[in-house]
Order: sequence, then C-alpha cells, then structure tokens
Amino acid sequence: MSENRIWAPWRLKYVKDASKDNEESCIFCAKPSLGDDETALIVHRGEAAFVILNLYPYTNGHLMVTPFEHIGRIQDIPADTTAEMLELAKTAMNRLEDIYRPQGFNVGFNQGRAAGAGVEHHIHMHVVPRWGGDTNFMPVIADHRVMPQSLEDSFRVLSAAFDPNDSTGSAGAAEAAATGREAQGSEARDDNHSEGR
Ligand SMILES: [Zn+2]
Repeated sequence: MSENRIWAPWRLKYVKDASKDNEESCIFCAKPSLGDDETALIVHRGEAAFVILNLYPYTNGHLMVTPFEHIGRIQDIPADTTAEMLELAKTAMNRLEDIYRPQGFNVGFNQGRAAGAGVEHHIHMHVVPRWGGDTNFMPVIADHRVMPQSLEDSFRVLSAAFDPNDSTGSAGAAEAAATGREAQGSEARDDNHSEGR
C-alpha cells in the first residue's frame, strides 16, 4: 500500500498538467518556446514538428511526435507535416531500437478526451517501446512501476542519438547508446527470460 502513497504525487501532477489544456498554457506550445530543450525534454526539432520525451512515460524511451502548430485533430494536420511526423516517428523508432533494443512498439494517436488523450487540443503521436515481458499500459501504471532510467538520462541518450553532432549530446551517440542499453538491460532481463530480444 505504501506504493500507492509514493505514486500519488505523480497522479496529482498529471491531472493538473492535463487540465492545462488550452492554447495559452498548452504544454506542446509552451515547451518549444521555453528556450531550453533539455528542460523541455525536446530531443529533436524538425521543420514543422518535434520529438519530445513523455514526462510520464509508460516505458523507458516513451517519445511523442507533435507539430509546432496548435492543431487538435489528425484531419487538420497539413499533408507535409503529416509526412514529417511519420518520418520523425520512423527515425525515433530506429534510434530507440539502437539504444533500448525493444521487441516492439506501440505507435499512435489518442484523439479526444473520450479516447484517452491527456492533452486534448494539441495532437501528438506516441512512440512507446515495448518488451515481451512488460505489461499493458494500464497495468504498468497500476503496478507503480519504477523506471530504471531517469528522464534526464533518457534525454541525454536520445538527444545524442538524434543529433550526434550537437553539443547537447557531448557524451557521443555511441557511448549514449551503450549507457541506454545498460539501463534497459536490467529491465529486459528481469521481465523477459527468453533470449530473443
Ligand atoms: Zn498547443
């Protein structure tokens, strides 16, 4: 039961953040204009869209791809932005495979509150690495699972992997990838007793 109490602040903050869902305080509008991508957890900026770490990840490396423009519906995303978002998701998946060696991915949108969107009015695509031994989304939350890698570490390895020549990733992509694998390895071993990962 103590785990429930430990987890309560997480849920409270999530509810508070999710309620800030208007154009003035939209997190997906605010983060890119913060002027500090490390604090914002933005691992990569494209032309019309960017890649950001989820502050409340379901698994290590849980990323989101979202347009800079405040757009609420998939149908309203301009075609070139749609294409860029999918390309960014593909790149993200390649980088996540390099770093975390996931066995699969959940990739997709929740559009509308009824469909489970936390931030309803700024559309975002989730890219969630998955492992054979992990559990479904809700049980992951219900089990109060602790992420073996901190968000700061996730940011460091992923931003370095996306933009290896940036000074942000001074550790270098290769070292970052090794660190990421190490961090993920303990979870993968704990969760999955097969050798096929
Ligand atoms: Zn917005």
